[in-house]
Amino acid sequence: MKALTWQGRGKISCETVPDPKIEHGRDVIIKVTACAICGSDLHLMGGFMPTMECGDVLGHETMGEVIEVGRDNAKLKVGDRIVVPFTICCGECRQCKWGNWSCCERTNPNGAMQAKVFGYPLAGLFGFSHLTGGIPGGQAEYLRVPYADVGPIVV
Ligand SMILES: [Zn+2]
Ligand SMILES: [Zn+2]
Repeated sequence: MKALTWQGRGKISCETVPDPKIEHGRDVIIKVTACAICGSDLHLMGGFMPTMECGDVLGHETMGEVIEVGRDNAKLKVGDRIVVPFTICCGECRQCKWGNWSCCERTNPNGAMQAKVFGYPLAGLFGFSHLTGGIPGGQAEYLRVPYADVGPIVV
């Protein structure tokens, strides 16, 4: 698929990258129909956010149509149109139960690295450095949405 990728400070380019696949049972894959370019993408472009890597796919304000559903995801079905929040939440951990969605303890695989910087690990985020999980973003033709039975909103 084609995707917008970070190639170094000040350099964003459209590249061919591997299509996303279902990795966990609660994932869905969407065909992206719209994705914003956010002001905070400028922080990435300007090199102000550490742990960006060459080839990272950007984009954290995405909507699209579900084309594939993981076997443990009972909420979404193929053909649903969803809006995908920036924050990825499990819905089950202590912070999610308290409603502190952006502090989800399970969705950032690099939480330990982030805790060193911010004092506490935060949730995984789409397209926003490896500190926030290194999760590919939605400025792309397709997007894997982890824990897609919690955050996304059907429209
Ligand atoms: Zn944003
Ligand atoms: Zn959680």
